[in-house]
Amino acid sequence: MKIIKTIEKVKKLIKESKEKNLSIGFVPTMGYLHDGHISLVKRAKKENDLVVVSIFVNPLQFGPNEDYERYPRDIESDIKILKKNGCDILFLPENKELYKEQLVIINIIELSEKLCGLSRPTHFQGVLTVVAKLFNIITPSRSYFGEKDYQQLLIIKKMVDDLNFDTKIVPCPIVREKDGLAMSSRNSYLSPDERKKSTILYRSLLKGKEIIKKTGDIENAKNVIKDMIESVNPTKIDYIEIYDEKNLKEINEKTKYCRIFLAVFFGKTRLIDNMRVKIK
Ligand code: AMP
Repeated sequence: MKIIKTIEKVKKLIKESKEKNLSIGFVPTMGYLHDGHISLVKRAKKENDLVVVSIFVNPLQFGPNEDYERYPRDIESDIKILKKNGCDILFLPENKELYKEQLVIINIIELSEKLCGLSRPTHFQGVLTVVAKLFNIITPSRSYFGEKDYQQLLIIKKMVDDLNFDTKIVPCPIVREKDGLAMSSRNSYLSPDERKKSTILYRSLLKGKEIIKKTGDIENAKNVIKDMIESVNPTKIDYIEIYDEKNLKEINEKTKYCRIFLAVFFGKTRLIDNMRVKIK
């Protein structure tokens, strides 16, 4: 595995690979890798000649009172994990390599004004800006994103369509711990007590899904989920929403699949999760 820190060097390597007609699978991450990230790397390996993973904790997507400084980092362990799982190139830029004087910011109208965008108003523009830069540097054939961050996935797909990026976005299913908690680098913040409580997210999603399937009663599903989550005394519920998964709009007679979306604080840690439900 090659570890590359500069844009110039990585572009050169990519150019050489393209000249050999190699397809490139790209997995952008913020590191502190777990099996969720690895599932993306393995999928990219299966479908491409060359796998590029980036690790960059992107300051632009953190709000002023968020966890940028304390976001978990363990680059030595990440390198070992990536070597074991078939990554060919690790792109590891420093802050000053990617951002010199960034005056251009990519924003999206709609889609970002709900769910995570409400409590993190500048989050998605930070994500889009860094992902656009990485797409231009890596020029991947296919790019892999987890459904764990479902709103992010939709927003990135829209950017690729609207701005005519030449990469195919491949959505990958959520990888969970044995007890159902969606894997996340932020799970490492949880105290043992918060970790125990956090399993309520998956259990409440399953219950919500069961209610929607049986009765189609969206409001009732939301209420039951809320009661279940409140029963473990979380620090705060940020949102519980159920939307059409195609466009994050309210469900209507045309909706085929909806998704239940949750964001809940346990202590200072904000966890998100979601689950797809077939309506028709
Ligand atoms: P992050 O390092 O949190 O920015 O995540 C990098 C990529 O991994 C994103 O596309 C995430 O959606 C994806 N990812 C993170 N956690 C999971 C998970 N539990 N299952 C599947 N994909 C995940």
